Order: sequence, then C-alpha cells, then structure tokens
Amino acid sequence: MIPLAKTGGLGDVCGSLPVALERCGCRCSAFLPAYRSVMRSGLRIEPTPHTFTIPIGGRHVACRILRTQLPNSSVDVYLIDQPQYYDRDGLYHDRHGEYRDNCERFSFFCRAVIQAIEQLNLDIDIIHCHDWQAGLVPAYVETKLGGFRWMDRVRSVMTIHNLAYQGRFWHVDMPLTGLGWEYFNHHQMEFHGELNLMKTGIAFANTVTTVSPTHAREIQTEEYGKGLDTLLRQRRHRLAGILNGVDYAHWDPASDPLLPAHYSATALAGKDRCRAALAAELGLQAGQGVPIVGMVSRLAQQKGIDILIHALPALLAERRFCCAILGSGEPGYVTALRELAARYPGRVAFVEAQDEGLAHRVYAGSDLFLVPSLYEPCGLTQMYAMRYGAVPVVRRTGGLADTVSHFDPATGQGTGSVFLDADVGGLGWGLRAALDWHAVPAHWARVVANGMAGDWSWEHQGPHYEALFTRLVNGGATAPRS
Ligand code: ADP
Repeated sequence: MIPLAKTGGLGDVCGSLPVALERCGCRCSAFLPAYRSVMRSGLRIEPTPHTFTIPIGGRHVACRILRTQLPNSSVDVYLIDQPQYYDRDGLYHDRHGEYRDNCERFSFFCRAVIQAIEQLNLDIDIIHCHDWQAGLVPAYVETKLGGFRWMDRVRSVMTIHNLAYQGRFWHVDMPLTGLGWEYFNHHQMEFHGELNLMKTGIAFANTVTTVSPTHAREIQTEEYGKGLDTLLRQRRHRLAGILNGVDYAHWDPASDPLLPAHYSATALAGKDRCRAALAAELGLQAGQGVPIVGMVSRLAQQKGIDILIHALPALLAERRFCCAILGSGEPGYVTALRELAARYPGRVAFVEAQDEGLAHRVYAGSDLFLVPSLYEPCGLTQMYAMRYGAVPVVRRTGGLADTVSHFDPATGQGTGSVFLDADVGGLGWGLRAALDWHAVPAHWARVVANGMAGDWSWEHQGPHYEALFTRLVNGGATAPRS
C-alpha cells in the first residue's frame, strides 16, 4: 500500500484504490500489518486505545492498533502492530527465502483485523480482501468467528492479484487459523493435502474479482488456473474482472518530481531531455535514430525474463537499439542480465535495484517498453509506459491484452505492439514491428500520441468497484463484467 509498503503492483493499487473509492462517495478504512517500511515511511502514525491478544499457536499474542491516513485523503489506515511478526527486512521473505512463520503471521493479521473491526466499532458493509495474505478474512466472516453482530450483514470480496502466490502451508498449520478441521476439505481450505489461503478466500468470499476481464476468463482454464481453475469455474457467476487503474496524479510526465525534465503529449521536448539523461546515467550509446527499449520488472519467470535473455543477442546483432533494464528478484536472472550487459557495453544496461526514482526515469527516457509476460493479471508498467510516451511491446495475455492494442500504420489506430507467442520468435516479431514504426517518424508520432491519449485512470475503474459493492449490499449477485 504505497507510500507505506510496496513489492509490486499490489502496492500501487492498494494505495490508490481506497482514495478513488472515496471520490466515488464510499467511505473506506484500510488494514495493513505494521511492517518495518510502514513505521519508517515518514507518515504520522498515532496510537489508538485498542490493544488485545489473539490466541495463536498455544500462546496469546499481543496486538496494538495504530492509525495513519493515506496522503491527500481521509482514508484511515489501521496498522496491526506486532513487532515480532512484522518488524522485519521484508514483507513476505528475505534473502534467505520465505519467512517460515508466514502462516502464523497472516493468520494473526486476519484474526486481528476481525477483532479490530469490532473494537473500533466500524460500521462496514463490505470487506475487500487482497490476495492470500487476507484470504482467511472471508472465512471468518462466513463462519462468524467470534460471533460479532456486524458479520450478519457484511459482504466479503476477494480480489486475486496474482494466482501464482497462494499461501500454501502444510496441514499441521491448520490450527493457527482458529478454524475447525471440518473446513479442511477440498471444497474450502485444503489443496492437495496442504492448507491454501488463496483457495480459502476464493471459496468463502461472497464475490471474487481479479484485475482484468481477460484474466477473469483465463484463470478458469487449466493453463492459467494454477490448480484452482475448477473452483473458479464453479464460482464463475460470482467472478468478475475489473482492471486496475492508474493514479495519474502520481504518474504524470508533466509534473513528476522524479524526472529531470517535464513534457506532455503536445510538448514533447522534455522527453528528449529525459531520454538523453537516461542514456548518460546508464552509459547507453543512444544517438539519434537509436531507440531505447526500457523494462522495469520483478525478475521472476512470470515476467518472460528467459525469453528476453534468449532473444536479445540475435536482435541486437540485427537492429540498432539500446536496452535499459531495471529489475530485482531471482539471482539466476540477475546473473544472466549482468552477463548480457557486460557483453554489450553501451547497448545493454542493467541495474539490479528496487528504485522508484530510476523506474520513473526509465519510463520517461525510453522510446519502447517491453513486457513479455507469460501471464499478467493486469500489469501496470505498460500503462505507465504509455502515459510517459514509451510504446509498449507486450505479449497478448491478461491485462496486457485489455490495455494495449496493436498499431496499424494504415489506419493510425493502436497503442503498441502486441505479440502472441511466449517465445523468442514472438518477442522478436513484436519488437521488430515496433522498430519498423520507429523508423518512420509519422508512424511513430502517431503511436506515441495514441498511447499518451489513453485514459487508464481510476476515474473509469473505481465506479466498477462501487457498482459491484452496491449490488452486493443490495443483496444481488455479481453480474460478471467478463
Ligand atoms: P507485479 O505486481 O506483478 O510486479 P505490475 O506491473 O502490476 O507487476 O506492477 C509493477 C510495479 O512495480 C510498478 O509500479 C513498477 O514500476 C514497479 N517495479 C517493478 N520492478 C521495480 C524495480 N526494480 N524498481 C522500482 N519499481 C519497480
């Protein structure tokens, strides 16, 4: 939840969706573990009088509720404070791997949220849960754990941001959840002998959403369903796809404080300055006519990094372009990308970091932007790229398919290059097409302008959530949007 904590797009979405909902007339409060990054965010954090203990793992673990607000809003963020669990380097893992007590950490979080709602006396209609870390909350509401009166009328929504991360734990962890073994069955919490918190959320929530209409269809197939497609097909009448929105107040090249120069669709000179500055910063030889291809990504298999690594050498030999890659993640990919950068000095730059400022400078300084994902529930980077005048080259999957349309020079329609095959041939086709457009200034100006004119803001997406919440409050089922 930016600016409190972020590992990827979920952070952007959770930091901006409540503010967008507030603009739609909803009143929102949010709950988040008091992670170390939250406590060091610089935002004003106040104590509340609410403290209690949660019985977990044979102990009674203390919890303190702290309070802050999302900037420029009146959205209260209640922080579940238990330093033993949350005052750590990472959110879910550190450099040694996943935290071994994640089941306990997030069972505690979900149980503390339920207790906090009661103590804070919040008058809530909808409880909106994001990914497996919050997956137990719909189960608590449905089974009325604690027996609180507000549970009779509250409705739960489970949003899947990334089905590959399911929160799977060995069955022995089941008692940590506080729920009885009768729920450990393959319709609800059990998955191949393990406890599965994403499955739990999907099974118990009144409504399930994911973050694009195309992905809502994809996850009902074996190819994309990560083992949960049967359950998702069973729940399809309660499954909707709503695209993530972009916070254009934060992502605007005309005012972005993280950029060396500013620009807009009608005054692009600043983009050239951003481009020159990026080339200088990363040591790229990107003279006139040599486009910079940018990428900002977690380094995970999902993101198509293997394809990129295998495709680049032949493409670099064939065409004139440079690459600016910012990423962090799996060590194998870091090594391979470092080797590529060493092999092509001046043409491939790779920075291994989690660096918000450099991310903005890459969007602004790039001419093209690569997103060759194997799957992509929504994807935000292609939307940021378009806003910043970088033409996206994306694989046709999930939210990428819903937000980028393939440019046709004959009609002047389209916002990027969209390829189908998740392999070296597919990526090569997509990149070559975009490089061909780049060589024709009129085509290029058009595709850049089309992308910059798109509006992927919460102004459009927020009302879809509001409509869904309203239907739920009025007792209706979900009319799926996909
Ligand atoms: P995912 O959530 O799967 O990582 P998204 O496209 O939804 O993918 O969101 C990625 C977000 O993380 C974007 O805001 C992007 O700018 C940011 N990001 C990814 N890698 C880095 C990095 N190495 N440094 C800074 N920001 C990054």
